[in-house]
Amino acid sequence: MKLFNTLTQSLEEFVPVDDTVRIYVCGVTPYDTTHLGHAFTYVSFDTLMRYLEYTGCKVKYVQNVTDIDDDILRKAREVGMAWDELGRRETERYLRDMDALNVRRPDVYAYASEETPTMIEIIQVLLAKGLAYENGGSVYYSVKRDAEFGGMARAIGLNDYHAMLTIANERGNFPDDPRKRDPLDFVLWQAQAPGEPAWPSPWGPGRPGWHIECSAMSMRYLGPQLDIHGGGEDLAFPHHTCEIAQSEHFTGKAPFSRFWVHTGMVHQDGEKMSKSLGNLTLVSDLLKDYSADAIRVTLLSHLYRCPWECFPEDLQVATELVARLQQVRTLVGERSDGQDTVLSGRFHAAMKNDLNTPEALLLLHRAAETMLANHDINTGAEILRLARILGLRIEG
Ligand SMILES: [Zn+2]
Repeated sequence: MKLFNTLTQSLEEFVPVDDTVRIYVCGVTPYDTTHLGHAFTYVSFDTLMRYLEYTGCKVKYVQNVTDIDDDILRKAREVGMAWDELGRRETERYLRDMDALNVRRPDVYAYASEETPTMIEIIQVLLAKGLAYENGGSVYYSVKRDAEFGGMARAIGLNDYHAMLTIANERGNFPDDPRKRDPLDFVLWQAQAPGEPAWPSPWGPGRPGWHIECSAMSMRYLGPQLDIHGGGEDLAFPHHTCEIAQSEHFTGKAPFSRFWVHTGMVHQDGEKMSKSLGNLTLVSDLLKDYSADAIRVTLLSHLYRCPWECFPEDLQVATELVARLQQVRTLVGERSDGQDTVLSGRFHAAMKNDLNTPEALLLLHRAAETMLANHDINTGAEILRLARILGLRIEG
């Protein structure tokens, strides 16, 4: 199938190199509830994996939990909870929301706080190669020592140092940290601050930087080279740019990932849905008013890599499609012996064209209406089989 690779900015044919497709998707920082933007990312990747499996691939899927970071510590102080207790509670909530949306759980769900030895090993190699430096118990990656730094940043239009620095600062790259030699350098290991939890390291107690976490956990469980690395579009820089630098210099192997797949941002009230703006649609709230299938259809009716704005009418339209599919199911019963017809051919052509789920859903919608008008049981069974490839349950 064809997938859009952010690193090359082009549609490329995705061909597995062996019988297992290794996929890593950046996970959540569990300090707050899951919103529609998260759901869009994880439902999109879930659908991609279901489709790859349908085409005969085995998928190994790893996701991280950033269970130690500044946001968690701040929120834990605000609500008067221990940081790890807060992280566990919010992780459980996230998994419950994803289970409800029929998003399969990763094969490995790796917690940053439990993986520090792997991160330390990578940091030591980067220090030995002269690409990192220690200062005051913290360790930083030296961007200017790395002539290859920034391929991903340039791919998305950040063409020079200043363009990168502006975005890095906006996205919390500790612009005022006086221990950094260069403002674009990023932290690999952060020395313990008073009152904060810490893990032992050769540089004293501290905690890992965010970027090193994903390099360590992806390579530990999937090996030095991944097939697909995914996440929200806002992670391409600096997060994934930094991951590529660390990982490729650690292993000496490139590319760190053959494909970089990013999901578009979900907007509400004209702005990106985000915790800081407070314009959130929570998955748990939507589930009170709409079925999981209707929410999933709403998400999949947008191309995974495009930004979109969420309107309540979208959920109504999705609910109508789900009702049609349920009528199909009522007529067809448990039969699943429908022959593949021209509908299947078109459905798979859409899915193989950069996971075009909006097109695939439109085909199912039209076919369901025709099938209901004609009581064509054979096509009905086929429609249900294709809908289930998209992760829809279509319960009676
Ligand atoms: Zn990540």
